Parts: sequence; C-alpha cells; structure tokens
Amino acid sequence: MDIQGTVEEIVALVSPLSGEGKVASYIPSLGKVSADNFGMCVAMADGAVYGAGDWQKPFSIQSISKVFSLALVMSYDYDSIWTRVSREPSGTPFNSMVQLEADKGIPRNPFINAGALVVTDRLLSLTGDAAAAVGGLLRKESGNPSVDIDAVVAASEAEHGHRNAAMAHFMASYGNLENPVELVLENYFNQCALEMSCEDLAKASRFLSRDGVSVDGAPFLSPNQSKRVNTVMLTCGTYDAAGEFAYRVGLPGKSGVGGGIMAIVPGRCAVTVWGPSLDTNGNSLAGTAALSEFTTRTGWSIF
Ligand code: GLU
Repeated sequence: MDIQGTVEEIVALVSPLSGEGKVASYIPSLGKVSADNFGMCVAMADGAVYGAGDWQKPFSIQSISKVFSLALVMSYDYDSIWTRVSREPSGTPFNSMVQLEADKGIPRNPFINAGALVVTDRLLSLTGDAAAAVGGLLRKESGNPSVDIDAVVAASEAEHGHRNAAMAHFMASYGNLENPVELVLENYFNQCALEMSCEDLAKASRFLSRDGVSVDGAPFLSPNQSKRVNTVMLTCGTYDAAGEFAYRVGLPGKSGVGGGIMAIVPGRCAVTVWGPSLDTNGNSLAGTAALSEFTTRTGWSIF
C-alpha cells in the first residue's frame, strides 16, 4: 500500500474543511492559531513514518496529554487509579461539573477534565513533577529532545482556569486529591501546554500500537494495560462525541482543544492529525474527516 501517497491525498482532500468550525478561544492564546493549518502523520509500529501538510509544525496537545499521564500512572500503580476515577463515558462536556456532586467527587473517566486532574494528582505523588514526567515520556518516545511546555499557553490557561480550579477544589472537599489544589492545577496546565508536531505525537504514541512496548524495546505498559488505555480512548477519548467518532473512524482516539487527534491502530501504527478548527463537540473538524477517510481507504480499523 502507498501510505505516503494516501496521506498526501487525504491532506489535500480535507484541507478545505479548515474554513469550517471554530478555533478554541476560551484559552485566549490558543485562539491566536491560524485555522488554515492542517497536518497528518502515520508512524508504523515497525518504525516507518509518513506525513504531509503541516505535520512537522508544533501545536498545543492539550487533552491528548491525558493519555500519557494515565499511561504513566498505570505503569507505576497498575490498577489502583480506578478507585478514584471511573471509566464510563460522561455524556456531558469535558469541563462539566454537573455529575461530580452526585458521584461524590469521583469523575466519570480520566479524559474529562475532572478525571485528568485526579490522574495528574496521582502522577504528582508518584514522581514529584507530573508535567515533567509527561514531558520526559514524550521526549523519549518521540526521540525529539526539544518537546517542551509552551509557557505562554500554560499561563493563559492558568489565568482563565476558574472552572478547572473549581473542580479541583470540589474533588479535594471529597478527599479525592492527595496534593494541594494549586500544585495539581499548575501541573495539569503545564502538561496540557506541551507542544508537539503530528510527527512527534505519532512517534510518541506508537507504544500503544505495540502492546505497550517502548521505543527502546522495553515494556512500558503490559499488553493488557495498553489494551485498556486504548479502550478508554475509544469510549471516552473524543469528548461527548465518542460514539460518533467510533462510528466514523473505527479507532481509539484522543482529541484536544488545540485541534490535534491521536488515533491508534493496534498492532499496526499510530495516526495523528492537526487542524485547529473544531466542530461543535470540540473535535478537529478536518482531523476527524481525515481519520475517517484514512480507515476507509486502508481498511485499518479495529472493527
Ligand atoms: N487544558 C484544557 C482544559 O483544561 C484541555 C481541554 C481539552 O483539550 O479538552 O480546558
């Protein structure tokens, strides 16, 4: 199969969609990114990498970082995080607080903001610096030592992060945070502000297509843990549209408000796309279309 040609054709096909949708602006510095960017990368489990468009341009990975913090916590702690966060789709927006009181401070899943704050809190206890741990993993797996936090984005989010702060305090009131709220928030904002290209991200997520095997050949996650991270991505990874995403794409995926989406074809490859214009559920509009086209053309879906 001509994967490079397929990626180039898909980028040309979906790029015109970047005029539709909306760039996220509730974190003001994200709103400054041009909607015209579009990139796509396929990193094969065996090492080959294909890309087109703006695939080497760094962007803010935002919620995609939540996959890596979860993977790190599972690598240290195995399953114990699941007493503090559930693994069901929430059916509400990523930043909703409405279920937290009824659920006594236990978030529905690790990919909505409340759940990710709990995971970051645990990673902070385990490592002393959760954002640095996520950054370290991303640098190692991508092979790019310059992957780093965009301090301007982190500061912009901290300044406007009232809702995340409210959720963190609320969960602390139920005893579901181990560290001071301010420290958890700082680590969470920093991990979300990590900046990477489609190429970096596809390489960094390849362990999820290889049963948890790291770039150096050592097991980072067990095959069972890798399966579970992928499963939570499939059911909860694309906001309140996980059903629609599964229907259209047929792969586990995680999106972020920066316009990136990372998808995994188990046993085969990681695929990343970046288009900052989002649909009404917060997923990259052109990115979702590209992934849908990719699985249709290649037949590489889990279904
Ligand atoms: N840092 C963002 C927030 O907490 C992440 C949101 C996202 O990408 O879904 O709002």
